[in-house]
Amino acid sequence: MRDLRESRRAYRSIEVDLDALTEEGLWTASTQFRRELQRIPEINRLKRQFQGECFVVPEWLHTGDRVHYGARIYFFREEESVTPEDVIQKNIDAIPSDSFHNFERYQGRLHGYPDCCIDFYHERTSNAPAPEWRSIKPFADQINDEALGNGSSAPIDDVLPRFSEWEDRYAFFAREFFPEPGCETALTKGRAIYDGLSSEYSTRLVEEYFGLTFGYNYLVARAVHTGGSHRPTPGDLGREHLRFYLPLRELLTTSRYS
Ligand SMILES: [Zn+2]
Repeated sequence: MRDLRESRRAYRSIEVDLDALTEEGLWTASTQFRRELQRIPEINRLKRQFQGECFVVPEWLHTGDRVHYGARIYFFREEESVTPEDVIQKNIDAIPSDSFHNFERYQGRLHGYPDCCIDFYHERTSNAPAPEWRSIKPFADQINDEALGNGSSAPIDDVLPRFSEWEDRYAFFAREFFPEPGCETALTKGRAIYDGLSSEYSTRLVEEYFGLTFGYNYLVARAVHTGGSHRPTPGDLGREHLRFYLPLRELLTTSRYS
């Protein structure tokens, strides 16, 4: 807990200097920003604990006349890792030319998303609803909207009744991954993830993971569809949602998931 507080304080105190929106300027700022990020206790803890490659990189986004920045932590299996420099370079390449979608495609591939769904996600035109919404829409009438907003004491079953009966639910295997409706590749991939998780953890925990992932995506898609950009905060989807922010080790000590 103390480490988390300290990490939050450390992150907030980082000052990012971006002198020029050029490749050189962005590299200088990235190097300095990354050096600060690597001092954060929580990031060091994750690196120590994870049995694979784990690193943090700055992330830049250029919209209109503003540059937004943040940090992202990547986790790779040992043999599948790229280098932090690769990620930073791809990000910087996508900045001056205002071609952020190239970086998003690259990230999609790093995350293991099917190419067809990456293409689907980038089909954005003004005369069709956003892909986020097109991905979710086939399920919209099975979501109990009225149960949303009941706070973190209500169970997620109120929002997604009979979710475990949906065959298509496996396609929603990662937060903010929006599968193309009916995509068999996404479904197959999701089933493999379901099976992999089920061999380690209780079915209840795995079902809740998929339910929360779908619910999270639904709220993001709805916000995009109605012109917002709001990401759900912990507990918005009910008590399981809040609980999922606990460290996995803690979750597994509860009788519900053991
Ligand atoms: Zn697909």
